[in-house]
Amino acid sequence: MTTRQQAVTLDDKDPLASFREQFLLPEGVIYLDGNSLGPLTKAASERLRQVIGEEWGQGLIQSWNAAGWHVMPQTLGNKIAKLIGAQPGEVVCADGTSVNLFKLLSAALQLRPGRRVIVSDDGNFPTDLYVAQGLTKMLGGDHEFRLVGADDIPAALDETVAVLMMTEVDYRSGRLHDMVGLTKKAHDAGALVLWDLCHSAGALPVDLNGARADLAVGCGYKYLNGGPGAPAFLFVAERHQNAIYPAIAGWHGHAEPFAFEPGYRPADGIDRMLCSTIPVLSIAALDAAIDVMLAADINHIRDKSIGLFELFAGLVETRCADFGFQLVSPRAAARRGSQVSFAHQDGYAIMQALIERGVIGDFRAPNLLRFGFAPLYLRYQDIWDAVDVLHDIMATEAWRQEKYAIRKAVT
Ligand SMILES: *Cc1c(COP(=O)(O)O)cnc(C)c1O
Repeated sequence: MTTRQQAVTLDDKDPLASFREQFLLPEGVIYLDGNSLGPLTKAASERLRQVIGEEWGQGLIQSWNAAGWHVMPQTLGNKIAKLIGAQPGEVVCADGTSVNLFKLLSAALQLRPGRRVIVSDDGNFPTDLYVAQGLTKMLGGDHEFRLVGADDIPAALDETVAVLMMTEVDYRSGRLHDMVGLTKKAHDAGALVLWDLCHSAGALPVDLNGARADLAVGCGYKYLNGGPGAPAFLFVAERHQNAIYPAIAGWHGHAEPFAFEPGYRPADGIDRMLCSTIPVLSIAALDAAIDVMLAADINHIRDKSIGLFELFAGLVETRCADFGFQLVSPRAAARRGSQVSFAHQDGYAIMQALIERGVIGDFRAPNLLRFGFAPLYLRYQDIWDAVDVLHDIMATEAWRQEKYAIRKAVT
């Protein structure tokens, strides 16, 4: 069993140790929920102050040009591209993940005319499933949304399938799907693949072009630390871009938005996937946070994420063996993302008790305790301390207090 001193020694040798001071973490909190809402960076806080005070406050509408607001979807997209194995000009940052899913699923159906099936795994995130359901319903009943177990995906790919939609890291278990293998299987069947990177981007190395992926989306407010409701991103492989006529054909995706023509003409390349005016404040915060992340080596992030998982899982298995926690995440590092999930019948109350003691994870119905590992600001000693609190809550049965059973709106 790892001692606290050994955990501190791991921190002393950590190549990412200096990043922690770039985050504004509240005193007394061990934050294991960066996979739901990343914390505030000093850089984002300062950038927001500057954008509000100077660019908006003083520059007013001139800042669209003078401060480069109009190209932020592309400039930030090109930064995110570095984290996900894409080329410049293949990623833009705009809208939310759900909206981007709609844009790309509808594009995929266009790119595979004659094919009417969307395939996904039944463990995928609900909004991904809902968007696919809404789209197939809107198309009048000729399309099918085929939902199968994750292990049955290869068998579900046939000549009727237009697109396979997969979330690379399962939000419940943390299971990491095989991007290279599944993309190849889909291509062998003549289908495209849309990867959802919400739990991958910034958490582990992603190589979209290495896998020959077609389309991808991802979230700005989880591991990328962009702030609550930060815009999402979308990726379209260069080879597909000019064949897409956007289903949401907005003015920012027009070839000449400021010509104010009555007819839509798509912009060249990835720009046609834009539609609405961007939320400048949110995108500025995300931009500042991404700069912090780009200063780190993503391989160091992955190595430390694995180390934090091993420490957490190992300590729970040894110190909390008698308390009924069941590891739901794959044990093998190569098969999981940057979180650990445990099933426990009293998971909700236990999580509330942890949160009150400053150890913040989250709960996913019906019985999952989820802890995310963000290596830029978490230390090995934090993991040790978090399990120590968990052990105390279980050993003293503190979680049984009635107040912990009251359900909140957001879990
Ligand atoms: C968090 C998450 C989303 C969020 O979608 P929004 O439209 O940004 O609210 C979508 N898909 C997955 C897999 C997620 O983890």
